[in-house]
Amino acid sequence: MIFHIKRLVFLAISGLFLLRLAGCFSTTLQTQKQVLSYNLEKALGCENVVPVAIIGSGPAGLSAALYIARAGMKAFVFAGPQPQGQLTQTTYIENFPGRVKILGPVLMNDMQVQAESFGACVISDSVASIDTNQWPFAVTTQEGRKFKALSIVLATGASPCTLNIPGEKEFWGKGVTTCAVCDAHFYQEKEVVVVGGGDSAAEQVFELAAHVSKVTVLVRKDQMRASTASRKLVEATTNAAIEYNRELLRIYGDEQNGGVTHIDVLNNQTGVVEKRPIDGVFLAIGHTPRTDLVKNALQIDKEGCVVTQGKTQQTSIKGIFAAGEVQDSKYRQAAIAAGEGVKAALDAVNFLYSLGFNSSIARKLDENFFEVFSDKKLQLHTLTAPDDVDKYINVPGVVIVDFYTKVCPECIKLLPMLEAVAFKMQDKINVYKCDIQASKGLRYVLLKEKDLKLRSVPTLAVFKDGVLVDTISHVDSSSELYAYISKFADAA
Ligand code: NDP
Repeated sequence: MIFHIKRLVFLAISGLFLLRLAGCFSTTLQTQKQVLSYNLEKALGCENVVPVAIIGSGPAGLSAALYIARAGMKAFVFAGPQPQGQLTQTTYIENFPGRVKILGPVLMNDMQVQAESFGACVISDSVASIDTNQWPFAVTTQEGRKFKALSIVLATGASPCTLNIPGEKEFWGKGVTTCAVCDAHFYQEKEVVVVGGGDSAAEQVFELAAHVSKVTVLVRKDQMRASTASRKLVEATTNAAIEYNRELLRIYGDEQNGGVTHIDVLNNQTGVVEKRPIDGVFLAIGHTPRTDLVKNALQIDKEGCVVTQGKTQQTSIKGIFAAGEVQDSKYRQAAIAAGEGVKAALDAVNFLYSLGFNSSIARKLDENFFEVFSDKKLQLHTLTAPDDVDKYINVPGVVIVDFYTKVCPECIKLLPMLEAVAFKMQDKINVYKCDIQASKGLRYVLLKEKDLKLRSVPTLAVFKDGVLVDTISHVDSSSELYAYISKFADAA
């Protein structure tokens, strides 16, 4: 009898254990293989539903927006942390079919203008999360927008890699950067290094050579990965030199002046480490696909890219499509990203039509968009002349000045956020912008009178009653910017 009771208890415990195991297993299976119900009628009953949310505004995102808009659907593009993508960091592009020679930022601007001319809406915000366990997919943005998307085009691109060496973080924006187009201007007659051996490194050299006294490329192997044409152009640049088998180990700087002063460079053939004086370090060591939003939901390959199926841009979840460098580690060309954006848009449109979506539903949805997606902004006055310091900065209260250049991606990201904050706080603060390339006299007065040292763009300078009280070069969201500026405005 006792034996039977023991056996029953054993069987019950084992049963419970197996049931739990099965429970765990089925949850695991559910996260890997989504079991979603795609009921369009039910989905249209939700609040704030968009047909397609496009995440990212590089060539892939903007090309997708063009095709979605031309298909008669409202295309919402979330510009993300690098509005208009990586091409904003390049100079001339000569391999985009149909454009013989064009500046990267100009090409990207044209793409956006073209998509907007058909009704696409580019929003200065980044997507913070996507709930892929429900359909329509629930999306939340950094600025707190919440909506449902019937389909998603993921075009988040890739972000520049960093070295993770001592001094890199400490002197970021103070002599260490990945953007020569933005910051070359600050290195007139200085000596700098570019780390990396690809086409991006070559491009940085061309941009820097026009400003610096000398630019040295540190290549870790005994050859460059860049195209032969680019390498030959670097070799032909009189104030540029290439050093092979060199690795950057450490960056030193001067805290007081806030800038890079020296670097440690290893010759990996001889093992000798040399400490050299240097004014700036430009990194061009490749990119990592931006998959943070979806890495636990979508299938990712061993290169870290989102997996797409066959000849389509369909990901492992029906209704989510990926295009551009987030799903391509092989070709990484703007023209290919643009083509994939087009494919993703066509796939999304077909997906929606297969569910019963049609043009009258598209028109009905259009009527509900205004509140969630409106961006209220204040157009900022531009300071240019030295006299503007007395007129606009030496005044009572808090004054913020955004120092920028037209081709700097961080500046393109910051300006709309600042315009939105300026709108919200217009009765408390005055906000201006200043293009550093068009205002040398004004910058000289600010350096002399206010000790404002600019090393990178963008830089926001905060003045209180005409006195410089703080500067900041990087913010992630309007809410972060709002909190930062409020500190000064509320204390005034
Ligand atoms: P790439 O991946 O082509 O090159 C990265 C370079 O950085 C390589 O030389 C690599 O060295 C080096 N590197 C990587 N990690 C380190 C490290 N930790 N320390 C030192 N060096 C490192 O990236 P790019 O951004 O240059 O180019 C990406 C793509 O974009 C390419 O397909 C390129 O052709 C394209 N492109 C095209 C342009 C144009 O056509 N105008 C302009 C710019 C880019 P190693 O070789 O040893 O791995």
